[in-house]
Amino acid sequence: MDNLTKDSPLLPVYARADPVFSHGEGSRLFTRDGADYIDCVGGIATNALGHAHPALIAALEGQARKLWHLSNMFRIPGQEELASKLVSETFADRVFFTNSGSEAIECALKMARRYHYDKGRPERDVVYGFSGSFHGRSYAAMNAAGNPVHCEGFGLRLPGYGQLSLDDSDGILTAIADPRTAAIIVEPVQGEGGAREVPCQLLRDIRIATRGAGVLLIYDEVQSGMGRTGKLFAHQWYDNIEPDLMAVAKALGCGFPLGACLATKAVASAMVPGTHGSTFGGNPLAMAVGNAAFDIINDTATLHRAQDAEQIMRTGLASIAEARPELIGEVRGKGLLIGIALKVPNREFMARALYHRLLVGGGGGNIVRLLPALNISDHEIDDVLARFDATCTDMKRSHSENR
Ligand code: PMP
Repeated sequence: MDNLTKDSPLLPVYARADPVFSHGEGSRLFTRDGADYIDCVGGIATNALGHAHPALIAALEGQARKLWHLSNMFRIPGQEELASKLVSETFADRVFFTNSGSEAIECALKMARRYHYDKGRPERDVVYGFSGSFHGRSYAAMNAAGNPVHCEGFGLRLPGYGQLSLDDSDGILTAIADPRTAAIIVEPVQGEGGAREVPCQLLRDIRIATRGAGVLLIYDEVQSGMGRTGKLFAHQWYDNIEPDLMAVAKALGCGFPLGACLATKAVASAMVPGTHGSTFGGNPLAMAVGNAAFDIINDTATLHRAQDAEQIMRTGLASIAEARPELIGEVRGKGLLIGIALKVPNREFMARALYHRLLVGGGGGNIVRLLPALNISDHEIDDVLARFDATCTDMKRSHSENR
């Protein structure tokens, strides 16, 4: 822990990097002393339209002059507008707005149990998650993902959660057939766990089995959703795998705190006044930004740009990987949720990349993650690749010196 962290009044739960950014524009970030960086973290897949997007600024400023906050005791037209957009583009019929991904997950988990309770099956209360997943830091989200490192030291594991492995399809089917199972929760593309796409066939098998057994399927598209993979939601690349519930956040507000839990009418029918709520969820400011962001992200021009950007980025990364087999294992993930599996420590790589004024994320399985804005330009991608390559050169030098 450095002195800065030790003396900070902040809870020391983050190992924060040094640069202090004062402003951003598109995919670039600037420090107070004028150094410019390229942002391939994007607030961890949140700033999907980059920094300081004019349409989002206009939406926020316009709303800020009118009405900041009400209560969900009153109608908030922006909620109805954004919910209608989400419903028209997905499997869902009902939407609950939250302030974060964890809260969207929390809502989905509650709804899953409440649905079975309402159907006269209260014994169906176990939710199965997958190893390598991440659903947030609330107690329920943490227990649903079941990462032992995240759960350690926080008391008893919550009852009603079980863990499965994506490699064990028999175990998955056995869990689904268990009459105590309420739901399966899965990220169609794991983010924090290492940028891993769940094979479509496995999702299809899970969908068929859950439907047959009366078990609900929850997707966590907090990271993979809102255009990140080049479609509005990652699962929409494939047919017939729609979930019953889905958690969304991050790019939904493009940097303004906003999440949502989407549900089918059948599942949502168990939620009546008093069963759930939020003070801030879906407040007018969040809705102004969320509606503006949705319209831009859901535009075919943006989604096609994200697909093109992915191609250029992955082609460049593949040739870097090919030239650096001593550093890079594989390039994986889906769309612009890109994971590069390293053979050198990822934390060291991230620090080196910062030296080259490139922001990259980390992730499970010793990956670095690139999560650029969906509207990143060709020129910015060239810059990313050049800085990534320069970081590789440094890493190679320092590791061969240490040998
Ligand atoms: N689910 C996934 C897939 C995530 O990536 C995250 C955040 N990284 C969360 C849930 C939790 O979201 P939040 O931090 O907004 O609570």
